[in-house]
Amino acid sequence: MTLSAPITQDVHTIPRKVPAGPVNLVGLTRDQMRDAFVTAGTPEKQARMRVNQVWQWIYHWGVRDFTLMTNLAKDYRALLAGAFAVDLPEIVSKQVSSDGTRKYLVRIQGGHEVETVYIPEEDRGTLCVSSQVGCTLTCSFCHTGTQRLVRNLTAGEIVGQVMLVRDDLGEWPVPGAPKDETRLLSNIVLMGMGEPLYNFDAVRDAMKIAMDAEGLQLSRRRITLSTSGVVPEIARTATEIGCQLAVSFHATTDEVRDVLVPINKKWNIATLLDALREYPNLSNSERITFEYVMLDGVNDSDEDARRLVKLIEGIPAKINLIPFNEWPGAPYKRSSNNRIRAFADIIYKAGYASPIRTPRGEDIMAACGQLKSATERARKSRAQVAAEAGIAPPT
Ligand code: SAH
Ligand code: SF4
Repeated sequence: MTLSAPITQDVHTIPRKVPAGPVNLVGLTRDQMRDAFVTAGTPEKQARMRVNQVWQWIYHWGVRDFTLMTNLAKDYRALLAGAFAVDLPEIVSKQVSSDGTRKYLVRIQGGHEVETVYIPEEDRGTLCVSSQVGCTLTCSFCHTGTQRLVRNLTAGEIVGQVMLVRDDLGEWPVPGAPKDETRLLSNIVLMGMGEPLYNFDAVRDAMKIAMDAEGLQLSRRRITLSTSGVVPEIARTATEIGCQLAVSFHATTDEVRDVLVPINKKWNIATLLDALREYPNLSNSERITFEYVMLDGVNDSDEDARRLVKLIEGIPAKINLIPFNEWPGAPYKRSSNNRIRAFADIIYKAGYASPIRTPRGEDIMAACGQLKSATERARKSRAQVAAEAGIAPPT
């Protein structure tokens, strides 16, 4: 018997295995998950069924541990655990307002942070979700607009915000328990940081997952996407997502809108309105929400209200009046309550619903246009306090 010589191999000839790490399943479409399962060794014929099973565990039951997916064979669970992860972004901190609003600071890959806000109301609970870190647009009244775009969120990071908050609310269904009709988290608004239509594919995939009948099961009527007016993507929003649409209108002349919402220089009011007119038909939705931030002396005159009514004539609409949330250094002031009421009255008399948005979570600065920046300021001041006290700043 001869001992075989030790095998030596030139390291350069060994194909280098890139440490890929497990693929995160959260955020994959059904088709993407199917392909991933096949690549990992699932027989083609079984792949569709395995997707259905895993999908229900993750999105219906909120289960993220493969070993608990008991309708799968043990060795298949092991195969999945070796190749995949079910990862969500991480909650860094949570603040609860005296009115029940919860503001979460959420850390995504790369250490970036976004905010997600949960707003409980009598008949619903709305989650305000972010789609980008920062924003490329520079609306002059919005604090997010002063922050540069860091990156787009992935679909997993967008739907992950919904799943995190379901965790925090303890709202995943329990097998056998009676179905609770009123959900704590019943609605989603894409009104956090970022312009959702500049991150279209990820937003679409995330919302499709949120709407999937075998998972989170949020109806498309309970999802509202807010855009500053990215006209070329509006028709796609109708046909590919089919959710409700809100538009940050904010002005009744191009001159003023050019300043408040500078994307207006690219797609002006007339172009935007043409796209909006098509939306309800294309998406089979009832009406469009026009968001209108009330800025003292800038866009809040009776004449503005009358012009607004005229502009939107023929579009099924609701006008949501938002008292401006002031932030330090903001170049505008909030219109007085009387002015907002007078403005609302003109719109109401013209036959449109004109709710005035009640500011929520003000004590924790959870309002629009203040997300993240408030946390950054709070952190800075804690760091300053620590520095003054001569101790190491908090991490
Ligand atoms: N980028 C999208 C969605 C995020 S902003 C958009 O612009 O529509 C969500 C809403 O908050 C928009 O209507 C926006 O105009 C409004 N908003 C931003 N900053 C605000 C502020 N400081 N006060 C009141 N509303 C604000
Ligand atoms: Fe961006 Fe919307 Fe803020 Fe404009 S209002 S800067 S689009 S987040």
